[in-house]
Amino acid sequence: FEKEMARLDRLDLVGEMAAGIGHEIRNPMTSVRGFLQIFCTRKEFAPYKEHLNLMIEELDRANTIITEFLSLAKNKAVVQKAQNLNHIVQALSPLIMADGMVADKHIEFELNAIPEIALDDKEIRQLILNLVRNGFEAMSPGQKMKIKTFQDENVIVLAVRDPGKGIEPAVLEKLGTPFFTTKDNGTGLGLAMCYSIAARHNATIQVETGPTGTTFSVRFKM
Ligand code: ADP
Ligand code: MG
Repeated sequence: FEKEMARLDRLDLVGEMAAGIGHEIRNPMTSVRGFLQIFCTRKEFAPYKEHLNLMIEELDRANTIITEFLSLAKNKAVVQKAQNLNHIVQALSPLIMADGMVADKHIEFELNAIPEIALDDKEIRQLILNLVRNGFEAMSPGQKMKIKTFQDENVIVLAVRDPGKGIEPAVLEKLGTPFFTTKDNGTGLGLAMCYSIAARHNATIQVETGPTGTTFSVRFKM
């Protein structure tokens, strides 16, 4: 037990250092990005416009990785209060639908009556968005994903089901490992974030997958 505590303390320290370094790296990135944007508007840089835009995109990508990594740092304050998971899903639904719409990916909701549970709404939004984005990315245009909430005895379940191509066993084994991705433009931090948010909520994540799709079920104990 003491060894475990020491390990957790070390993790706290690593998290704090990561947060500090993340902020320090972001500041210079922001000024570089600012100059690149100014160059973009200058005539004499017109021949390099494509390269400048690529540089800005790459900076934005690095920034996303820092944001996602920072939200993994476990030492930030958790603000959990009793609320209904359905309300968080409902508030997020326009954003989710717009997200899918651009790629002709659709979504349907089945929100059943469930009691309130202790949730950090910011974190739960992140969790849902990460699962939904992965679902959309696994789907073909025209297909429909489903988000369902329900009560299963003393557990509240959030199930995100996509009719995508499923997850191979070799990939399944590695889910949640930070920086593990099979995508050209992936960060491999989305699921790591989901698992750490679930852990902070005393919830577990179950994955069922096959050639006709994948369901991620987040199970919150009441
Ligand atoms: P990223 O999306 O940036 O690759 P994630 O941590 O969100 O990182 O996911 C890690 C990997 O897990 C993905 O690259 C993909 O191979 C696999 N994966 C996650 N969700 C799904 C899904 N719904 N269907 C198929 N594969 C998935
Ligand atoms: Mg992802």
